[in-house]
Amino acid sequence: MGKSYTIALLSQPREKNHMSNAKRYMTMSRLYAPTLKEDPAEAELASHKLLLRAGMIRKVAAGLYCYMPLAWRSIRKIEQICREEMDGIGAQEMMTPVLDPAELWHESGRYNNYGPELMRLNDRHDREFCLGPTHEETYTDLVKNELRSYKQLPVTLYHIQDKFRDELRPRFGLMRGREFIMKDAYSFDATQEGLQKSYDDEKGAYARFCERCGLKALPVVADSGQIGGDTSVEFMALADAGEAELVYCDDCGFAADTEAASAGIQLVEGEAGELQKLETPDCGTIADLAAFLGVPEAGCRKALALVDGEGTPTVVFVPGDHEMNDVKAEHAFGEYHLMTDEEIQEFGLVKGFIGPIGLPEGTRVCADVSLKDSQWWAIGANDAGYHYVHAQLGRDFQIGEWVDVISAQAGDACPHCGKPLASARGIEVGQVFQLGTKYSESMGATFMDEDGKEKPFLMGCYGIGISRTLAAVVEQHHDDQGIIWPVSVAPYEVEVIALDAKGEALDVAADVAQQLADSGVEVVLDDRKERPGVKFAEADLMGFPYQVIVGKRGIKNGTCELKVRATGEREDVSLAEVAELVSQQVVAQRA
Ligand code: ATP
Ligand code: MG
Repeated sequence: MGKSYTIALLSQPREKNHMSNAKRYMTMSRLYAPTLKEDPAEAELASHKLLLRAGMIRKVAAGLYCYMPLAWRSIRKIEQICREEMDGIGAQEMMTPVLDPAELWHESGRYNNYGPELMRLNDRHDREFCLGPTHEETYTDLVKNELRSYKQLPVTLYHIQDKFRDELRPRFGLMRGREFIMKDAYSFDATQEGLQKSYDDEKGAYARFCERCGLKALPVVADSGQIGGDTSVEFMALADAGEAELVYCDDCGFAADTEAASAGIQLVEGEAGELQKLETPDCGTIADLAAFLGVPEAGCRKALALVDGEGTPTVVFVPGDHEMNDVKAEHAFGEYHLMTDEEIQEFGLVKGFIGPIGLPEGTRVCADVSLKDSQWWAIGANDAGYHYVHAQLGRDFQIGEWVDVISAQAGDACPHCGKPLASARGIEVGQVFQLGTKYSESMGATFMDEDGKEKPFLMGCYGIGISRTLAAVVEQHHDDQGIIWPVSVAPYEVEVIALDAKGEALDVAADVAQQLADSGVEVVLDDRKERPGVKFAEADLMGFPYQVIVGKRGIKNGTCELKVRATGEREDVSLAEVAELVSQQVVAQRA
């Protein structure tokens, strides 16, 4: 049976592939995807390493990359998913120049405020321009004078284009580039309700975009509105490599940056009693003290010594199991720094044993607001080798100022539902933002409202990092062998591997590839003269979701091997049925 099948296959001319109206497949012998055997030294993140190793991207200069054929195919799919979601909510795609005249940025007042991230340049007439890092000015100016009446609203316009930001530290490959691809949308509404709807529609589209790209992402409130709702949300793809630290609630869906969340901490009280000074010679850390006292770390109080923005020596107390957050601390203390050992000595403090009783005069004494209701403290005694227990707030010591400085962390109570929060790191793939009238007012973009009055547009802006999304997908979908593309954004959906570079195995493999291509599946055929081990390794590195392996031995039985990249499962499948089987699975998984 195997034999007659083979003959039937061979009777089809392979040249079919080159006929003008035939569907085409790619071959590995032609594909421009030079792979690297070793991890490149410059790359830290998995996505950066794997995209380089799989021959998908190459660095041109810091933060500037070529997207080679495989990466570009995936990028186009990500763009297309994004486009479909934008079009689906009625947004209209258009295009703007990359080069932005400085006048527009002067009008909004941002030319001088934007800082060195803005790439500036002059033309031959010495007129100033910048390379657009974002396009509020361009769009506000575009609709000004031409979008005239409330009857024409709402309008949402968008483009997908390269953006430029001269990042201080371009790094992590596509994650933080200086030239990167962004979908950038702007909405124009007559009323706050209208803006809210445009904004909510975008949020819905962003959630669907992430899901269709195979990303597990959370909408994280970046900014709370005055009326309680959110006015900005960041979509964070969960990944250990993410730059943002998050807490989230599996129960009610709440998610926030650790610095934005006010921690609903589970306060653990010290013991009540008479103030007692204990000899604690080896207890220079909270962990030591907690072990010595036989209490949880949360039941101890941690002291941090810093010099605030005004130069005042400052001591701040936090729950023993929590950390001070840098961003919050800057809000509270200005441009502060933690004291060096020398400064601790100089200010008369005792490292490892700092407490609120008996501090040197002139010390600014602060504690995190979460401790406001904590009466009984176990805390340093400002004496080397001693701590106090049963120190009572109000009786034994006072706190000068209550500040909000700790990071939320896993186990803290969700501020919405009280359930314990989980923690994760996230990659910001997109952000939605209610701008209100900020740009329409400064640039004089108004419309005629129903009541006959000229009013500034209510605007929203909405960005998605298309190229960063590619990196985020790899962060979430890889193993030690390489990338594991979700079908929706895979550069090719299937690779057919011929175990021989000539003869029957190649012919049959080419035929399977052609059948798949004819049914609309995106296929690459590995037709190279390489050892099978090399072919398998590269197929796994490049991460094609399905691999069909065709060799002489299988052909004799009328079978080939089908490997699913995500699960590693391999099974023998009839050669006569493999194309249909794989194409069904692929189609079912396309987003
Ligand atoms: P980040 O905080 O990571 O610097 P951002 O908040 O400044 O980003 P936005 O102005 O919100 O970025 O831009 C919209 C989207 O563009 C971001 O959510 C992100 O996905 C993407 N993006 C921004 N900067 C870069 C960059 N340097 N490289 C790649 N993508 C970027
Ligand atoms: Mg952002």
